[in-house]
Amino acid sequence: MKRTNIVVGNWKMNLTIAESLELASAVIAELGSGFSGCEAGIAPTCPALYETGKLLASGPLFLAAQNCHYENDGAFTGEVSARMILGAGCSHVIIGHSERRQLFGETDEIVNRKVSKALKEGLKVILCVGETLEERESGITGDVVTRQVKAGLAGIAGIGDLVIAYEPVWAIGTGKTATSEQAQEVHALIRKTVSDLYGAEAGDGLRIQYGGSVKPSNAAELFAMPDIDGGLIGGASLNASDFAAIVKAA
Ligand code: PGA
Repeated sequence: MKRTNIVVGNWKMNLTIAESLELASAVIAELGSGFSGCEAGIAPTCPALYETGKLLASGPLFLAAQNCHYENDGAFTGEVSARMILGAGCSHVIIGHSERRQLFGETDEIVNRKVSKALKEGLKVILCVGETLEERESGITGDVVTRQVKAGLAGIAGIGDLVIAYEPVWAIGTGKTATSEQAQEVHALIRKTVSDLYGAEAGDGLRIQYGGSVKPSNAAELFAMPDIDGGLIGGASLNASDFAAIVKAA
């Protein structure tokens, strides 16, 4: 099956509202009409979602949030729900990023509840999985990633527009990229895991992004691998011309 590549800029906890608007405008200008073969979006911080969404509304980029809670509302100080980010203009949400798992204690079970809720509310989910350096060095990368995929999708009837992002933790923000062969091996395993769960057609149609120190210089090689369908971009997405170059490589 021919899958459309998908590239998302994860801005993490960077940029004020004004700075977000400035960067989004610069990305739009850099892209011009020069991308058509893939889908692309950006994920600003929560305060910047609404205004940035208005800026993106007439263009080809979609708006994503970096996280959401699994309840609609209530006594959850500091949290934002799926329907709130939807109301702010998001079509997509990133769930289970390794920074959420490692720094904010998100377990497989919490990630699963969030995935389930976001899909139910009509958001498109980017579910992140990936092993730590220690796990890779102990030879359990496959086990860890398979567990995260199965747990993240537990009880979910259909995966529809869900995207999985494979992000080896040791490659995030470190400048160390997985080789395209290392990434391909894990992507193939993720596809097989999803095929086993949802059938060959769903597995074949699933888009799997690679994330972890993707830059203009390595994007094309990574995206050329048979099971890599675009990227989740951190650091390089904060530079309009680098991000545009990566989108164009997809
Ligand atoms: P990076 O981050 O591109 O800066 O390595 C990727 C991510 O965390 O999504």
